[in-house]
Amino acid sequence: MLPVFPVFSGIPHIATGDLVREELNSSGTLSSQLKEIVNQGQLVSDEIIISLLSKRLEAGEAKGESGFILDGFPRTIRQAEILEGVTDVDLVVNLKLREEALLAKCLGRRICNHCGGNYNIACIDIKGENGKPGIYMAPLPAPPQCVPNLIQRADDTEEVVKERLRIYNETSRPVEEFYRNRRKLLEFELPGGIPEAWPKLLEALNLDHKDKHIAAA
Ligand code: AMP
Repeated sequence: MLPVFPVFSGIPHIATGDLVREELNSSGTLSSQLKEIVNQGQLVSDEIIISLLSKRLEAGEAKGESGFILDGFPRTIRQAEILEGVTDVDLVVNLKLREEALLAKCLGRRICNHCGGNYNIACIDIKGENGKPGIYMAPLPAPPQCVPNLIQRADDTEEVVKERLRIYNETSRPVEEFYRNRRKLLEFELPGGIPEAWPKLLEALNLDHKDKHIAAA
C-alpha cells in the first residue's frame, strides 16, 4: 500500500480499499456482496470500484479539492484506461517489497477501531541470500491508548493474503506495463521500514523536505 506521507499533506490520499471497506460496513445494498468478495481476496468489479471512486472524487471536487494521490487504483487495465479517459496521471509509484515481507506485514497489520490509526506488530528481519539483499522493518507499535482497540482486517489471513498476491500477479501486474509504456512508472524497491524508505523515496521523486510545499501545490 502507498502510505500517506506528511510531505504530501494537503493532497487528498484516496485508497480504493478504504472506499470498499466503508461501503461494506454501511447498510447499503452492496454491503454483503462486497464483504464476500473482499474476504475471499478477490477484486471488486471495475463497475463498482469506478462508481465508488467517482462518488469520492465528485465529493472532493465539490469541497474544492484539486489533485489526489490514488492508492490501490488502478488494479486492472480497464481501470487504467478509464482513468486515462478522465484525468492526466502525473506519476505511478510502484512500491515493491518481496513477497515473504509483504505477507508478514499484512499478518502483522493492526488498526485502531477508534481513531483508524494503522500499526504493525511484525518485526521483519530477512537475511540476504543468493544475491538478494536482506531486509529489516521494525514494528510500528500502537500508542497505549489504541492498544485495547486494535483489530485485524478480516482479509489479512495467510490464505487470503496469498490469494490477493496471486491475483496481483495475474491481473494487476499488467498495469505496470501499461504505465511503463507511457513512461510514467517509478519502480521503488522498499529498502526497509519508513525511516529507511522515506528519504530514498523523496530522492527518487526528486524532492526533499524543502520542496514539500511545492510538491503539495
Ligand atoms: P486494499 O485495502 O487495497 O488491500 O483493498 C482491499 C480490497 O478491496 C481488495 O482486496 C479488493 O477486494 C478491493 N479493492 C480495492 N481496490 C480495488 C480496485 N482498484 N479494484 C478492485 N478491487 C479493489
